[in-house]
Amino acid sequence: MTNTLVDTHSRKIDYMRISVTDRCNLRCVYCMPPEGIELTQPQNILRYEELLRIARISAAHGVSKFRITGGEPLVRRGIIEFLKDLSSIKGVEDLSITTNGVLLKDYAARLKEAGLRRVNVSLDSLKRDRFQKMTRGDNLQNVLDGLHESEYVGLTPVKVNMVVIKGFNDDEIIAFADLSKERPWHIRYIEYMPFNTQEGWQKDKCLSAKEIKELINQQAGELYPVISGPGGAGPARRYKFKDAPGEIGLISPVSEHFCGSCNRLRLTADGKIRTCLFSDNEIDLKTALRDGSSDDAIERLLFKAVAEKPSQHHINENVFKKCSRTMSLIGG
Ligand code: SAM
Ligand code: SF4
Repeated sequence: MTNTLVDTHSRKIDYMRISVTDRCNLRCVYCMPPEGIELTQPQNILRYEELLRIARISAAHGVSKFRITGGEPLVRRGIIEFLKDLSSIKGVEDLSITTNGVLLKDYAARLKEAGLRRVNVSLDSLKRDRFQKMTRGDNLQNVLDGLHESEYVGLTPVKVNMVVIKGFNDDEIIAFADLSKERPWHIRYIEYMPFNTQEGWQKDKCLSAKEIKELINQQAGELYPVISGPGGAGPARRYKFKDAPGEIGLISPVSEHFCGSCNRLRLTADGKIRTCLFSDNEIDLKTALRDGSSDDAIERLLFKAVAEKPSQHHINENVFKKCSRTMSLIGG
């Protein structure tokens, strides 16, 4: 391998999140308005071969972990073939997906065969009526079936991501924690983050990871820290109940950022590199991909993006402004 991607703050960049679509089959209240968002014209969405070209160039410079997201990645046609091609690129060691789980039951076995290691499934309520209210879809059972099927086919560890919103679903924190006592799933609580949506983010709707942990300790039993093994490094602080098959993870982008160890780049479905979830600085790769530019030119853009990666976000400082894109457009 030639030179690796290291930013100006000495962080090695070895992780890329690729959004394959801005389309979605749900309309979560914190992510999209009921009518959906204005979608990118199909010709402006990167084709699979373009995504694979970027992945190949990135992998040649040390990016070994890829996560596929969206929008909802499973709604894009041809996703299985794409994942197969991606997993066979030299240097790609870890391939995973973030999905709302609606289509997961049908896809799980094929995802595994395509070379996918794991799934992260977003699930914010275990109550049918509330799930419906939060996602504007009646698919709770599909998501639960998808989780079980993923465990069955070995897309493990199965991770369940719950965005906690005060006054909305915080009364289900314990029910989610209890799932880790029954199943070998990693239940991860994510602080509600500020994006431009109709719902309107307010700081007082955000429950901190510390508050969530205290609540679990008080009401569900004592949590013991889990020491991350190789490959276990990530933004989640990991815990476990004694003798539980599953784990608890706490992710605190708002109250306690983990920017110092941030190793990731995001590629949006319309071909922009975003170096930080909360920065609107974007480096356009699509133009270079389509004007006959060489791999060397694309490589230079990649290095430029890494050089511009900010040291940290500023959610808790006055200079912070909400992102102009929502998560579904950035690729969460
Ligand atoms: N559609 C897929 C899904 O929902 O898993 C992948 C894309 S979605 C944008 C990725 C993740 O972003 C989901 O786990 C979702 O809950 C999370 N997300 C969206 N808006 C958020 C917000 N304001 N705060 C925290 N997480 C958010
Ligand atoms: Fe769709 Fe995921 Fe956004 Fe929900 S969070 S609307 S499932 S993209």
